[in-house]
Amino acid sequence: MADYQLFIDGEWSEAASGETYTTYNPANGEKIAEVSKGGRADAIRAIEAARKAFDEGPWPRMTGAERGAVLREIASGITAKQQELAQLESMDSGGTIRKAMLADVAGCAGTFLKFAEYAETVAEVEELPPVVMGPQPSPNYLRWEPIGVCGQITPWNFPLVMAAWKMAPALAAGNTVVLKPASITSLTALELARVCSDVGLPRGVLNVVSGPGSTVGEEIASNRLVDKVAFTGSTEVGARVMQLAAPTVKKVTLELGGKSPAIVMDDVNLDLAAKGVLFGTFMHNGQVCESGTRAIVLESVHDELLAKMKELAMGIKLGDPAEFSTDQGPLVSAAQLDTVERYVEIGKGEGATLVCGGKRPKGDEFANGYFYEPTIFCDVDNNMKIAQEEIFGPVLSVIKVKDEEEAIRVANDSIYGLAGAVWCADTERAKGIADRLRTGTVWINEHHILGPDHPFGGYKQSGVGSELGVWGYNEYRLKKRVHVDGLGQDPSAHLAFAMLFSS
Ligand code: NAP
Ligand code: MG
Repeated sequence: MADYQLFIDGEWSEAASGETYTTYNPANGEKIAEVSKGGRADAIRAIEAARKAFDEGPWPRMTGAERGAVLREIASGITAKQQELAQLESMDSGGTIRKAMLADVAGCAGTFLKFAEYAETVAEVEELPPVVMGPQPSPNYLRWEPIGVCGQITPWNFPLVMAAWKMAPALAAGNTVVLKPASITSLTALELARVCSDVGLPRGVLNVVSGPGSTVGEEIASNRLVDKVAFTGSTEVGARVMQLAAPTVKKVTLELGGKSPAIVMDDVNLDLAAKGVLFGTFMHNGQVCESGTRAIVLESVHDELLAKMKELAMGIKLGDPAEFSTDQGPLVSAAQLDTVERYVEIGKGEGATLVCGGKRPKGDEFANGYFYEPTIFCDVDNNMKIAQEEIFGPVLSVIKVKDEEEAIRVANDSIYGLAGAVWCADTERAKGIADRLRTGTVWINEHHILGPDHPFGGYKQSGVGSELGVWGYNEYRLKKRVHVDGLGQDPSAHLAFAMLFSS
């Protein structure tokens, strides 16, 4: 029997096939748990449960305030289990316990609280301008309604936060959900289902089906009973999801890859920029979609910045992610480590100069984990693969430019447009640069700061639509316009009828 089962229609169950898979701790290769391996039949059962819960159940018909109260209980349930969730997240994904406590668990609970607030306070009905076509105006209003069954597919890098970003807005708006977490890190999404079940979320409203993208994911993206699909992951799979969703014209939101620029101007405090650029790149080993993996540095400060970054990068403490003193844990999987090693070889082959890192750390404590040293390349040309392709690992490409114009041109020369950072003491100058970056988020003298009030979404091939904020909330609501005619019962007052009837 699996240690973690599928959560479908308010109950825990094995996969129809009876199959399971093992999930491992990437820090030491040890087994953590056996997880039910859902397949198409399980996805279909979950989708049917979500359909029934939407069409016949109480959830979409409750008031926003009632749903908000349930979301608040979910947030409290998460906080009550924060220690356990943080440990599990760190163990399953390799992120440090420090990040799990500060960002993952707090971010997850905070997201539920924010969308509870939206459910309670964001208007469900809005007045529209009246239509005047005759002697009396006709009032119009707009009614926001849930979309229906939402299929949601999440990646392995921030399992808990990604699940919260998907579930909370969908549930707040009155939808029902079938969520598929990434196979290699599915435990905390299943724990989140347990919290939701404990607070009495009606059956079928939330279903979590662990299992491969090729079966569970493809079923969710294509099943005709699903009204919307939300996906976070690679651009390649995002495009596939869009294709699968097209025949039934599902609403689609996608959060995809990035190769975000970090522009370093010549007036900046280089101690700030050095730390900030490395925070932007190496936080969670660069396994973050908005990681600033291209540092675009003005030539007058290039050498000094590079020296500072090298010293700081070499001081990042790799180790057991369960220890509070550890700065950086392992990469999530052997496959991700292979990808990083492959790109480092590509970078060397392309003629970039390795400044530091570029190898696995030595020592017994690293022997069975997927550790990799923070790696910096300089002499990078923006046309190189290491500057154009998302590596999703601790690899920073430093590109020297002569001036602001070239910095902006290089920053925008990418298929991606998720985020960017500008490190610059002159705020007005930095805002001018921010205006010209073709990305969905720009930080001035910061990186990675995302909040539930602010939209997060990609330009270009980094995505479709937004998550978070009222914009993200509205991606889970449909707009119905209602026209209440004000002209009374006499057909002759209805001037519009003249388009068909001459008298
Ligand atoms: P991925 O293949 O795009 O996987 C993301 C999610 O989609 C997982 O739950 C995966 O399931 C599922 N999936 C895979 N194939 C699918 C399909 N045909 N139909 C529906 N769902 C499918 O990403 P990955 O392999 O985990 O990582 C690859 C690269 O994606 C990374 O190196 C990075 O460049 C990028 N990435 C981006 C983000 C982001 O936040 N934008 C996050 C993670 C990764 P299973 O894995 O369980 O099969
Ligand atoms: Mg794992």
